[in-house]
Amino acid sequence: NLSHRLEIVNPQDEIGRLAATFNDTLERLENAFNRIRQFSADVSHELRTPLTILRGETEVGLRWAKEPEEFRELFRSNLEEINRMSKIIECLLELSRAEEGGLKLELSDVDLSELVAEVVQQSRLIDPEKGLKIAYTVDQPVAVTGDWLRLRQVFMNLLGNAVKYTPAGGEISVVVDATGGFARISVIDSGVGIPADDLPNIFERFYRVDKARNRADGGIGLGLSLTRTFIEAHGGKIEVVSEPDKGSVFTVYLPQTSRT
Ligand code: ADP
Repeated sequence: NLSHRLEIVNPQDEIGRLAATFNDTLERLENAFNRIRQFSADVSHELRTPLTILRGETEVGLRWAKEPEEFRELFRSNLEEINRMSKIIECLLELSRAEEGGLKLELSDVDLSELVAEVVQQSRLIDPEKGLKIAYTVDQPVAVTGDWLRLRQVFMNLLGNAVKYTPAGGEISVVVDATGGFARISVIDSGVGIPADDLPNIFERFYRVDKARNRADGGIGLGLSLTRTFIEAHGGKIEVVSEPDKGSVFTVYLPQTSRT
């Protein structure tokens, strides 16, 4: 609220500088509070939707279903919503653990070129009817000290998105090499791309470019937040370059195990 700002009479003197610092701190606090407020609203909304579906289906089932097959169908659908809620809660727990510095990485020597090869292989099974061409190139084999399961999840998320957001017949290419002591893994797709306005936000929790389409795809909008969190926990970083209707390139950097 701007009315709480201190008026700065002389920006050069000590009081003026103090007031400027105060205003600055106030603004950052306000932004932080707004983010928390927005986040709680998003969580409530994301959990309310599956609950509403669960309630509606259960009520309809209790009133109208008679045959065992009808009940089975209902349970199947209910399970989908329950799984969705569990996934949201599991992801949120991981994110808040990471925020509190409580994310425990299970470190071991990880042959990244091998791990990514495995994920690429699995990504070919996600949506075979789409006929995507998924290429994998290792320009340089790389090894890191990392948490195998979480790194696997990182690349599953990136490949899963590449498959999800690339239309039938498109191409995806994954390249592994190294630069300046970092293993570099690029996931390049020829998909829908991301508008420049959305690009800075896609790593935010629950942020999606196309909300309506996303739910049908089974996305929960937490994949990239987790991806970035896991990468940063390894001392790495992730970058993205994208152009609508052309495609996206997600590049992951992870500190390489030194060969001593
Ligand atoms: P989800 O895919 O579950 O919606 P993510 O956190 O993985 O959530 O991604 C956030 C948003 O970023 C997606 O909703 C989508 O709009 C956009 N996005 C992510 N990866 C890609 C990609 N490879 N191509 C185009 N858009 C993408």
